[in-house]
Amino acid sequence: MKLSSRITELTGSGSDGWELFIKAREMIAEGQQITELTIGEHDIRTHPDILEAMRASAAAGRTGYMLVPGSQSLRETVAARVQERTGVPTTPDNVLITQGGQSALFATHAAVCDPGDTALYCAPYYATYPGTIRGVSAIPEVIQTRPENLFQPQLAEIEAVASGATSLLVNSPNNPTGVVYSRETLDGIATACLRHDLWLISDEVYDTQVWDDAHISPRSLPDMAERTLVIGSMSKSHAMTGSRIGWIVGPEPAIDRLISLALHTNFGVAGFIQDAAEYALKRGPDLEQLISAPFPRRRDIARRILSTQNLLQPVPSGGTMYLMLDIRATGLTGNAFANALLESKNIAVMPGESYGLAAAGHIRIAMTVEDKEFETAMIQLVEFAKGLSV
Ligand code: PMP
Repeated sequence: MKLSSRITELTGSGSDGWELFIKAREMIAEGQQITELTIGEHDIRTHPDILEAMRASAAAGRTGYMLVPGSQSLRETVAARVQERTGVPTTPDNVLITQGGQSALFATHAAVCDPGDTALYCAPYYATYPGTIRGVSAIPEVIQTRPENLFQPQLAEIEAVASGATSLLVNSPNNPTGVVYSRETLDGIATACLRHDLWLISDEVYDTQVWDDAHISPRSLPDMAERTLVIGSMSKSHAMTGSRIGWIVGPEPAIDRLISLALHTNFGVAGFIQDAAEYALKRGPDLEQLISAPFPRRRDIARRILSTQNLLQPVPSGGTMYLMLDIRATGLTGNAFANALLESKNIAVMPGESYGLAAAGHIRIAMTVEDKEFETAMIQLVEFAKGLSV
């Protein structure tokens, strides 16, 4: 039987970027010891207090169908959080609770793109972006960013493809580079959106993982609130990856239609998960800091080890649980480097190419194993790189 081109062509031609991750998992299944620095998942699990809130809610009976937009109190909590952090007036009517950031990425594109519309996104990118856009029958068009611009998209590069496009997807703090977009970059993004009448889809799932500067949500820039859909998630901020909970914040008419889409696609999020999320958000920034504290600490460990050599250069990053390394001085591609590293040192990192050609010649390290193991892996990684050049 014929399947729709929407799903048969979802990943386009060629690889979906997950090959090395799958290879590492296969090696683990065969009984090998692998240090996994691949997927963006904390080495800690969801905090016991959050689990207790989840259990208490389920035990109290919050296990049935829920209102699709999300519980009123969670929507209020998210709206208050967003308003407090961005200064943009936000009410529960601006909020839809979703099954994590990924479903919000799909829903926002479905909400603004008709089939055949062009949806822009910046490379390097989170691996699902082009497939998500194809999944709503829109056409993904990439904006390349460059290492020499510290992977910040330039206004001229956006303008070169913006004419006739429908939406622009940006991600700061950025996966995979760890770069936090500067005020100047975000002003350029806003200028392009206003000039070319683009929807901005702002993926801010790493908004609590900013180490050096403050996180700026582009929704807070002049005239942007009416054309911006912000994607939030509890996955990274509260180590709740498996709970599948996040949100979309946007203008009321868009949220109204997105509620209808949610009704027809997933019928809402489990009540006990929503209650646990509300509990976690109400615990405030202290809990968020506790959860993200290991990452800047490990970034410092990596920087210290890397400072003794020139072959592997860390991309100057300001946030996220990732560190990207420029490995071009080794003469290898990211793919070749990552595969050889896995085979010879049993360390799994992601090839930059998994995130688009803009990250070719780079690898992404997820700083998601405990400090000592992370330090050992970084030392071995440097040894491996030095061994290549002799
Ligand atoms: N956006 C980015 C940039 C991500 O890195 C991820 C997950 N790694 C997501 C969205 C989706 O996250 P989730 O669905 O778990 O909220």
